[in-house]
Amino acid sequence: MIVDVHTHTPTHRDAVPEAERRVYENWRTDRPVTTTNSWADHAAAVAGADVAIVFNIAVDDPEAMTGLPYPPERTNDATAEFVAADPRRRIGFLSVNPLRDNVFEEVERCVELGLAGVKLGPNYQNFDPLEERALAFYAHCERHGLPILFHQGASPMRHAPLRYTYPLVTDEVALRFPELRIVMAHMGHPWGTETVVTIRKHPHVYADVSSIYLRPWVCYQSLLAAVEWGCAGKLLLGSDFPIADTGEAMAGLRRVNDILEGTKLPRVPAEAVERIIHADALGALGLEVPS
Ligand SMILES: [Zn+2]
Repeated sequence: MIVDVHTHTPTHRDAVPEAERRVYENWRTDRPVTTTNSWADHAAAVAGADVAIVFNIAVDDPEAMTGLPYPPERTNDATAEFVAADPRRRIGFLSVNPLRDNVFEEVERCVELGLAGVKLGPNYQNFDPLEERALAFYAHCERHGLPILFHQGASPMRHAPLRYTYPLVTDEVALRFPELRIVMAHMGHPWGTETVVTIRKHPHVYADVSSIYLRPWVCYQSLLAAVEWGCAGKLLLGSDFPIADTGEAMAGLRRVNDILEGTKLPRVPAEAVERIIHADALGALGLEVPS
């Protein structure tokens, strides 16, 4: 089974009106990225996967903080509605700002809506991931078997503090909550080695490879580090739709050794790449296969 663990909820149910279309030049170096998209756009983009994990990020000003413009009050309902439209191929994650009041009520409401995990982007949401209330929130997720996917590493959004995305901060979280299932997004790019040493030591901490193939050297270094430290089996496939689609992500990973032509540098074994693509992500995160 192929699981794309990292896709963002489409911003629009139907075709995007021209006036609402948003395009960013600085997300990829090879082409602009359209961050507004329809349900059909998402379905087409993840056609290469059997199951996609889908989420929004709870922020007050989505355009300034994430570039993914959706009404903040619809953060979780938009995801739940989208998942309900094709529940055999989609798993939804909720998002809340752990520093807000009533977060536990919102989590309970979302779980009733069928959302099965949590997406947090402390940099986009502007909270210190080791703050007291954040820790209380992780404890709740650990107790209720809700995996958390953390944004890690770089972001082009100016107002998003990079210090909240450093992979070694996630080591601190995992030290406190050993049973919490964690996914470190983007292998913490460009801090792939820091991510690798973190997932290596914590049994329930994983990393997704979304977007990393867009920077071939970072991708090569990060995957090779995972192989050399014996934890490539903890890497999960992700596309980061709308940045890329699942097919592109798989093809990009399979090209990881292309930059080595003419060198004697060690190769990332093809089996390691296939293992990422076919990883048992749902088993790792304690999620049920959708039916
Ligand atoms: Zn993302």
